[in-house]
Amino acid sequence: MREPDAARSSAATPRSGKFTRRRPSALRRHGLASALMLAGILLALLPLLEHAGPGLPQVGNGMAVAKSDRTRRAAEPCPGGQTERVNGGKLCSHGPDPAPPGVDIAQRATPARRAKSSANRAACRDDGVSGPRVQTLYVYSAEGVSAYERYLASFQTWADAADRIFLESARATGGDRQVRFVTGPDCRIDVRPVAVSAASLNDFWATVQAISEQGHNRTDRKYLMFVDATRYCGIASVVGDDRPGSSNANNRGPSYARVDAGCWASRTAVAHELMHTMGSVQNSAPNTSRGFHCIDTFDVMCYSDAPYYPTMIQRCSNEFMTRFDCGADDYYNAAPRAGSYLATHWNAANNVFLYGVEQQPPVAHASLTARPQRARAKRAITIELRGFAPGEQTTVRWQAAGVVRTVTASAAGAASLRFAVPAKTKRGRSTIVATGSAGSRATTTVQVKGRR
Ligand SMILES: [Zn+2]
Repeated sequence: MREPDAARSSAATPRSGKFTRRRPSALRRHGLASALMLAGILLALLPLLEHAGPGLPQVGNGMAVAKSDRTRRAAEPCPGGQTERVNGGKLCSHGPDPAPPGVDIAQRATPARRAKSSANRAACRDDGVSGPRVQTLYVYSAEGVSAYERYLASFQTWADAADRIFLESARATGGDRQVRFVTGPDCRIDVRPVAVSAASLNDFWATVQAISEQGHNRTDRKYLMFVDATRYCGIASVVGDDRPGSSNANNRGPSYARVDAGCWASRTAVAHELMHTMGSVQNSAPNTSRGFHCIDTFDVMCYSDAPYYPTMIQRCSNEFMTRFDCGADDYYNAAPRAGSYLATHWNAANNVFLYGVEQQPPVAHASLTARPQRARAKRAITIELRGFAPGEQTTVRWQAAGVVRTVTASAAGAASLRFAVPAKTKRGRSTIVATGSAGSRATTTVQVKGRR
């Protein structure tokens, strides 16, 4: 197996990869871009001064600059402006990640050899589908040929290997964590084939859009996509939300990790993208790159990334080429010290998409809206439901009149229905309540106008 990923950790210019090779030559051609990159490097040096140790130079005005930098950071949740709205939620991408050394992203990985034992397998518990889960997908062009049968066992093996990094890294900090994969009746990771248009494979958000349209946009799912293309090594969505606690936006789906064919066999590439979807690395972390990565060498999530290309700091041994969070202080610690950054900010080791994390009762995000919000008796209004559980059977009741309709929420947790304002409804505010079979509940009111 191709392993360690020194380029990711130590070099600003990755040594291989179709996408990343393009960057330096493009910059040479465009003077403005070079100037911008230089500015980026200068900007990136400033925050380092905040962490400067005794042996490193100090600059008198460092604090003032750092303060204005913090303000700017807060106003820019997605560095580089790579933002997309998916299902009403705001997702960032951190830009494509470079390939590990020795990996040619233009060359599809050869299938994995059959694993000798089940020692490295992802956890298979409960029914394998309930609660928050990572759904693994094989995404390919509908105009091409599916390699699903040929690669199914390999995808399972490669996802198992990535899961091992979650487990070993958690154990090193005093806890057990494993990815809550959707698993099948055979107790192996469930991998579903999804055919999309060839064009939608050329761009991350287009791929996300294409699979969402096929129902892969559930709030209780994160999606690990093995994509049969050679556009990227890997890329993923992450929400800039560093608040601790279960209401953190990274504790819900949908979110998306994409690994292309050249990097399928790299367990660090798969683990890296999946870790982004768990909410790592927040741009407020002590050793942040400010591009959802970190600056510790070595670490699966750290490299000198866009848009600031920060200078890396050597803090950990080679062991961390296949381990998360060198120093256990930036994004993943099963038992952070009280008062430390990870005890007071988002810690991916608390993500409910991991085994070992106490599952919260489903949080109600359900909402109802009525259009129009003012209507006369007998007039039709439209009630929109959002944020219900996928497929949830929902009863919608016009309370005062006792009129009831039932509706089933779509895979996206949405539904809409038409209601005629009941004939004898009194003037004034009238309440409509929706109650779902999975426990979702939402209300809205309609202002009923008198007869003319
Ligand atoms: Zn990344």
